[in-house]
Amino acid sequence: MLENSKKIVIKLGSSTIVDSKGHFKNEWIKSLIKDIKTYKKNKNFVIVSSGAIALGQKYLRIKKKKLKIEMSQAIAAVGQIHLAGEFQKVFEKNSFKTGQILISLDDTEQRRRALNVKRTFENLFKLNAIPIVNENDTTATSEIKYGDNDRLAARVAQIIGADTLIILSDVDGLYDNTKKKKLIKEVKIIDKNIYSLSDKKINSYGSGGIETKLDAAKICINSGCKMYLANGKVKNPIKNMIKNKIFTCFIPKLSTLDARKKWIISSLNSSGKIYIDMGAAKALANGKSLLAAGITNVSGKFNKGENILIVDQDDNHLARGLSSFSSIEINKIKGMQSSILEKTLGYSTKSEVVHKDDMVKL
Ligand code: GLU
Repeated sequence: MLENSKKIVIKLGSSTIVDSKGHFKNEWIKSLIKDIKTYKKNKNFVIVSSGAIALGQKYLRIKKKKLKIEMSQAIAAVGQIHLAGEFQKVFEKNSFKTGQILISLDDTEQRRRALNVKRTFENLFKLNAIPIVNENDTTATSEIKYGDNDRLAARVAQIIGADTLIILSDVDGLYDNTKKKKLIKEVKIIDKNIYSLSDKKINSYGSGGIETKLDAAKICINSGCKMYLANGKVKNPIKNMIKNKIFTCFIPKLSTLDARKKWIISSLNSSGKIYIDMGAAKALANGKSLLAAGITNVSGKFNKGENILIVDQDDNHLARGLSSFSSIEINKIKGMQSSILEKTLGYSTKSEVVHKDDMVKL
């Protein structure tokens, strides 16, 4: 299963690395490292690990589960040191170097920053150090937060061009809705039916649940990255998953999209919407750029270069792209022929509102 993989991201949920008493699961991590050693040849590994808040709570003796964001920021600041320290100790004992990367939402959602993140990973690989990643919980506020590490791990996998993401959780995978709750071995399309299998249950520490794992799978499927959802409660979780074939595998689409377009299609948020008429929708379907003439309306506030959704009059999502104009400018030029844009705005501009190279059809 992993033989042909070159870059593997392993995501560990809080309940996989912190036991019920709040301690770092040292023995379990050792068993994971043993698995990594088995497969490490010619591969790069990345660990995305939660647990900062859980370890911080233990150290600070805070039992309360529902925390205010300001408090969880501070607890994460305390816990992250412990988390990174534990990883560093146990990896070093096994002759692995590690490096810590704390990521904020904008680091993956703004193109320039995402490329910068990619370079840091590449250089860590050159140094033969395993990146240990978590969300930068200490500065993340509720509006600008992943909140769960599943989507974070998928976005990292996509940005660094990983071919495999393994999410280790407290379930064997995704179960169907029959009485016997059979494990689904393979998923190719993530639609409403698949989402209906999510039971919204989350474990005692994690903030994810199945739903965010499906969101992660969606990103992977669009990025050419295989995603496995498997049980991290057992020791040697990778070996176990491969040997016993207990997991759900999300198979990526064969995609012709380049890295930039893969990044655009998997964006986690959009700053606004551009409404277009039927003529423009047809042009988009034929692979053309979006011109001002076909725009009927715009919602949300955004600057040039931001990620937006292109929708029809019934709000159907037609495409996602980077706008070459701000929402204020679009309001001024909507419905106009491209030849009069410069005259209207009073300065020189591009003629496409969203260029086809900056757009992905949905
Ligand atoms: N980043 C959070 C932590 O390290 C956990 C997020 C999650 O549960 O996925 O505590």
